[in-house]
Amino acid sequence: MNTSSLAPTTPVAPSTLERIAELERQYLLQTYSRYPVVVARGKGVFLYDTEGKRYLDFVSGIGVNALGHAHPRIVKAIRDQAAKLVHVSNLYYHEYQGPLAEKLCTLARGSSGEKFRAFFSNSGTEAIEGSIKLSRLAGHRVGGETKCRLVALDGSYHGRTFGALSLTGQDKHRKGFEPMLEGVTFVKQNHIEALRAAVNDNTCAIVLEPIFGEGGIYECTPEFLRECRALADRHKAALVFDEIQCGLGRTGTLFAFQSFGVIPDIVAIAKPIAAGLPLGAFIAKEEFATAISPGQHGTTFGGGPLACRVALEFLSIVEEEKLLDNVTRIGAYLHQQLEAVVEKSAAATGVRGRGFIQGIQLDIPARPIIDAALAEGVLFNSTHDTVVRFLPPYLLEEKHVDKGIRVLKKLLGKKRKAAA
Ligand code: PMP
Repeated sequence: MNTSSLAPTTPVAPSTLERIAELERQYLLQTYSRYPVVVARGKGVFLYDTEGKRYLDFVSGIGVNALGHAHPRIVKAIRDQAAKLVHVSNLYYHEYQGPLAEKLCTLARGSSGEKFRAFFSNSGTEAIEGSIKLSRLAGHRVGGETKCRLVALDGSYHGRTFGALSLTGQDKHRKGFEPMLEGVTFVKQNHIEALRAAVNDNTCAIVLEPIFGEGGIYECTPEFLRECRALADRHKAALVFDEIQCGLGRTGTLFAFQSFGVIPDIVAIAKPIAAGLPLGAFIAKEEFATAISPGQHGTTFGGGPLACRVALEFLSIVEEEKLLDNVTRIGAYLHQQLEAVVEKSAAATGVRGRGFIQGIQLDIPARPIIDAALAEGVLFNSTHDTVVRFLPPYLLEEKHVDKGIRVLKKLLGKKRKAAA
């Protein structure tokens, strides 16, 4: 008897994952290497795939979903505003851009007495572009056209557009796209002598992340940041902090610079500001902000009514639900638990970062660990090849940390006992 005649005649329908992945393989530019999951919805600190499987989210859409998923007040604000006005362009006033600027500038000022002004973009990389343009204008104003040079850090990440890419100190992102913007000098993070050698009267800006995000969760030391501040003052350059990943609460203060005690001239923010809607901003001290005139910078979408209203709601929720206290408290707990993992596990060598921006250094590739955690129902993310990064929602509780740590310990294995 021919056994092949017993084979089923109706083909098995491909799973949602196979179907979607095949479509993307055929029709998308092949720029992403996605994890094998189709996310259907989220609630709080959990995501659910199309099969209904639940995942504990330590990634927050790379630092965006600080309020977790489907926060009822955000859902309400989006619904309400969508029915009224989504977009109007920057030709007209709307009710929310001015109040959002006031709120952010007031929060940035804190007790320093500094006056700030804001510009709204759609993304992080555009907030960096705007910061570079403003620094150049301010530089030209005080030092002429030669005051145009930029100082950035080796290992940094600032975005994918040409200005931001030119400041990104990682070859893997720049390779193939040369030539970059002229006039950028890179120095090693926390190397004060190299910094002093790089900054001069032709410098218009020093641009840095207080904590490297994509670069592997490395912190700038307070001494290094203070020296950046002193050199920027001495040479009338802008000190620009890229807080796109580490800002807006992740370190336990609203702005990361408030955790480090050094006030920049310009701060770029994005990611969580509009709770998942695209919005970025740069906020500049008055003396730099006044270098720009009408028509010199602009955007069609940036600062629209939907995103700005939701951002105001985001800031109110962070304040009213005391989420920064939670980031500090649970962040310290996460740090302590990660240190215990390093103590016990063969493959983990150190913990870096603070609050809800932390990383654990492995001496093996991180990706297989991330893949295995996904199968266990926990979403981690890797950066810099060997770092498991934690950017959880600000709602995370101790019991969620415990679950994540249990999975991490299981996957990293135990240290072998030294022979007696
Ligand atoms: N700067 C930093 C520090 C970032 O982490 C990112 C995004 N990961 C960016 C800039 C670029 O932001 P976007 O992807 O929104 O353009």
